[in-house]
Amino acid sequence: MMKRIFAGAVVILTAALIVSAGFFRLNVAVAQPTAPTQIFLATNTPYPTNTPGSLWDMFPPTNTPGSLWDMFPPTNTPRAIASLTPLASATPMAMATMQPTAYIPPTFTPEGLAGATWTPPGGDPSTQIADHYYMSRPIGSSDVNYVAWTYPYGGTAGGRLQVHHGVDLVNNTGTPVLAAADGVVIYAGDDLSTLFGPYNNYYGNMIVIQHSFMDASGSAVFTLYGHLNQIEIATGEGVTAGQRIATVGGTGIAQGPHLHFEVRVGNPYDFGATRNPALWIYPYNTFGTLAGTVTDASGALLYDVSIIVAPSGGSTGVTRYAFSYKDNTVNGDSVFGENWVLGDIPAGYYTVTVSNNGVVLFRDTVYVQPNRSTWVDITLS
Ligand SMILES: [Zn+2]
Repeated sequence: MMKRIFAGAVVILTAALIVSAGFFRLNVAVAQPTAPTQIFLATNTPYPTNTPGSLWDMFPPTNTPGSLWDMFPPTNTPRAIASLTPLASATPMAMATMQPTAYIPPTFTPEGLAGATWTPPGGDPSTQIADHYYMSRPIGSSDVNYVAWTYPYGGTAGGRLQVHHGVDLVNNTGTPVLAAADGVVIYAGDDLSTLFGPYNNYYGNMIVIQHSFMDASGSAVFTLYGHLNQIEIATGEGVTAGQRIATVGGTGIAQGPHLHFEVRVGNPYDFGATRNPALWIYPYNTFGTLAGTVTDASGALLYDVSIIVAPSGGSTGVTRYAFSYKDNTVNGDSVFGENWVLGDIPAGYYTVTVSNNGVVLFRDTVYVQPNRSTWVDITLS
């Protein structure tokens, strides 16, 4: 597995390196608790400070998202796609026909270097993983097409909700829902008598599409669209990426109108077959994805750890919270085996911190590459 490979990178936490080439292979446990300087009191939980009234609070990207198909910069060669075995009938994803938009590298002014222009480091192979961004967003760019960060895949919204097997895109009833990729509708209807979740009438009106590609394990890949208002496609119909298939609603167990979106691998009827959609959907242009594991010293995955990701080194962006998956009812990716993901982060330097009662258990700096995933292993001793 690529992510297991160390490239001999030595993690050196100096300010000088922060502005040097990419070097991050964060397998470092901070054994000595660092004195809590300005950081994160124990009472500083992600939710209370930002609650305009619902669980759908989110941290809107500060950058205006680009169009649905904003693409890789020319230098960013797609990886691993060739290693997958598409179905015989598979039409290559629209990728080949997509026109990359002009890529303008972000420029930063690192601290202490006023006036200097600076370009991001090249990709460090030790932090890169073979992305499979085969999907577009299931909501159009004129609506809310980013996920609700407070209730990510594998999260519980601070213990208030059950473990999330998908992601939510919060939009008004009637907002168009789009197919995330080419495929065939294998189910369109309610789930009153066909079980897709832990119980019936969970997703309400829903659609499941089987896609024309497989995951790295050779299993079929499906997307599921839940809580729909109106279904505009029928079982057996073919769809293309971006095609309107339904409208947002609040059917099933939804507490308000939103699209619940899932990726399932293998058995589309299995509630335990989900994967994190954030690893399948293209980041916004110049945004990236942060993914990794949180483990104890023995390498065992740790559940429900809060991870603070804050801009550093002069980067723009917003502080976000990630959470390792609550339990093993949700799965890591077939390729990556991650147990936490933070998607749609503006490229740049970030400090990744895990603390407990004001004591820093892990802290390191990472450069989030644009238009791809950057891998971070967090080991807590
Ligand atoms: Zn949901």
